[in-house]
Amino acid sequence: MLTIIENAQNSGRKYLNEIESKQLLKEAGVSTSDTRLATSRAEAIALARDIGFPVVLKIVSQDIVHKSDIGGVKLGLGNAAAVGKAYDEIMGVTKAKQPSSKIDGASVQNMAKPGVEVIIGMSKDPQFGPVLMFGIGGILVELLKDVSFRVVPITQRDARDMIKEIKSFPLLEGYRGSEPANIKALEDILLKISAFVAKTPEIKEMDINPIFARWDNAIAVDARIILE
Ligand code: ADP
Ligand code: MG
Repeated sequence: MLTIIENAQNSGRKYLNEIESKQLLKEAGVSTSDTRLATSRAEAIALARDIGFPVVLKIVSQDIVHKSDIGGVKLGLGNAAAVGKAYDEIMGVTKAKQPSSKIDGASVQNMAKPGVEVIIGMSKDPQFGPVLMFGIGGILVELLKDVSFRVVPITQRDARDMIKEIKSFPLLEGYRGSEPANIKALEDILLKISAFVAKTPEIKEMDINPIFARWDNAIAVDARIILE
């Protein structure tokens, strides 16, 4: 796990890309979509075949924080032709809209089954140190600002309270006949992230958005980690 952080530090990078960030999450015990880096169109197609269709392609660049805003996320790609086309489009749109950005490639990942989109974040407070955030994620984060906070390390009770405190909690309980989310799985992720950041002071900020919260599991499909 530390090799990912050390590699970045040795090359003077503060931003871990989506693939590196998800690798760290996996080592912290958090489930993520199966995500690999392609540096060519042909490699993207080969990785998609290996992962299994449908897949998702996303731009991987430290200079692009909101990938979907520039058209850098392509969902539900069902075959090799669609993957090839998406690869070219993602590269084209990035070069057109942010010509100076340094591109690592494209991430290829399995299309996760939908769930309620939640966010877990970590930032450091000058006084309290690492603070965890939980809330409704995806594109609604900024609109709803429906989040809760706790100082690390958190207890199981804190994890449960963080989840129940948000105004949109009924969404997670199964609003008007929709499937309820697995609250225990979300508590578990919060506890694992808390333990992970407590023992990894090199991490300055973490943004896992979204996590798909489902009745059967909770899976991180996007992640971004910034080092000190
Ligand atoms: P952004 O940089 O814009 O935050 P994301 O990686 O979060 O990009 O992708 C944008 C949206 O695409 C997510 O909020 C989610 O709804 C959907 N998405 C991303 N990855 C996957 C995936 N592996 N499976 C299914 N949906 C995904
Ligand atoms: Mg995101």
